[in-house]
Amino acid sequence: MHMAITNPPHAAVLASPGLGHLIPLLELAKRLVTFHDMHVTFLVITTHASAVQSQLLRSSSLPDGLRLHLLPSVDASSLFPRDTTLVVRISTIVRASLPSIRSTIADQPRPSVLIGDIFCTDLFEMAKELSVPMYVFFTASAKLLAFMLHLPTLDEEVEGEYVNLPGPVAIPGCDPIRTADLIDQVRNRKIDEYKCFLHHASRMCMAKGILVNTSDDIEPKTLAALRVDPDFDKLRPTPLPPVYPVGPLIKSDDGDQAEVMTWLDDQPADSVLYISFGSGGTLSAEQVTELARGLELSQQRFIWVVRPPSSESKAAASGTFFNVGSEHEEPSDFLPDGFLERIKGVGMVVSSWVPQVKVLRHASTGGFLTHCGWNSILESVVHGVPMIAWPLYAEQRMNATMLVESLGVAARPLSPPGRVVGREEIERVVRMVMEAEEGAQMRCRVEELKQRLSKAIEEKRTSYNLFCEVEKWKMGSKSSLGVKGHSQ
Ligand code: UDP
Repeated sequence: MHMAITNPPHAAVLASPGLGHLIPLLELAKRLVTFHDMHVTFLVITTHASAVQSQLLRSSSLPDGLRLHLLPSVDASSLFPRDTTLVVRISTIVRASLPSIRSTIADQPRPSVLIGDIFCTDLFEMAKELSVPMYVFFTASAKLLAFMLHLPTLDEEVEGEYVNLPGPVAIPGCDPIRTADLIDQVRNRKIDEYKCFLHHASRMCMAKGILVNTSDDIEPKTLAALRVDPDFDKLRPTPLPPVYPVGPLIKSDDGDQAEVMTWLDDQPADSVLYISFGSGGTLSAEQVTELARGLELSQQRFIWVVRPPSSESKAAASGTFFNVGSEHEEPSDFLPDGFLERIKGVGMVVSSWVPQVKVLRHASTGGFLTHCGWNSILESVVHGVPMIAWPLYAEQRMNATMLVESLGVAARPLSPPGRVVGREEIERVVRMVMEAEEGAQMRCRVEELKQRLSKAIEEKRTSYNLFCEVEKWKMGSKSSLGVKGHSQ
């Protein structure tokens, strides 16, 4: 009797450097294995891998069927000078890794699909050559996706700098974006950082589909525009690939830090403000001092993930993007004199990293002062925690505006752009979120959003799009192009 041997459908997944990319891509990979019976090879770029990344990969419990493949490190020091900007660095490392990515994929049974993030668009030609359909997993908001998909058109139509436009930037079907909120990468069109960002934005339409880590409960208008707005296609030389919201996908497995969790256990419900600037965020020395003093003045309980201050330069706001966990200074070296003694019992200072999802899930956590990275926002919303929006770099200002103005789940300190936020303003905004009526209203709104999201997750509405695509990958269908305008 002849029996056909069928291999389980197989996906190859690649994250560009940076924990904000690796964490959600790894979560997607786990989901493909656990809920969709796929096998996944997760390709890990090891060049510039941070100490936290290595630790995270070592300690993650991976389901059978998910295999990590560490790509050989490329000599990044020879690729770019030290002051190279973020997206140029990320893209250069991905490009230099292409030969090993190619040979890894070519050496195994052909995957049904290849998935990479926003900065992996240089893989499209290789995927085509190997006859593997390639999808983008967009790890930021639909709003940034809409902006990126529209950027090639803006690039053709707008003369001069976008930041000098007299009014907000119009995006078909979406809320316009204030020039002050524009992503750092488009604030100076003359530099390589812009050209590199535009390069990825222009190539995104080569994807078979774009999975985006958001949901209709968070970004209904933008997602509706991306599904059906004819202007998006009319204005563009190349039609858009279908866009599938599959979020919120957040970290499910979060390491441990017993001291922090035990301390939280002893605090009253909703009483602790958690302060963290993501994997890359750093503050100037003056800002660290003002934040410390402001926290003291507020007399609220807090956990603060501190990093040594950056230099004053703008690029330094993302100071630990590539090396988080390798800081050597002790908090007492850079926090105000006597601060650590004075806050004993009220505040806790932790160096560099905590298991953030566990902290946000804890009943004692009542607020999150965040740099507004998209993963941090999703994690906060899923756990019903109101925020203080403190954007630092990339698209974080755009995210902050969404939290404060569209969703009403965050407050933002008032301070002129680029200036240090003073201690009194920090005290005001911390008290507002943690103990005033405005904060209580934000807590109600974020709780409502949390309930809507958990209902959608329970009813499997948010993963429906992913499910449909996976079924196509499994069938190995050549027409796995998705259905334009398909909604949940
Ligand atoms: N994170 C964490 N502990 C920390 C700081 C960050 O676990 O002390 C995680 C956080 O939960 C999130 C990711 O790192 O999943 C940061 O991603 P985000 O998009 O918020 O910001 P980015 O680091 O990309 O700027």
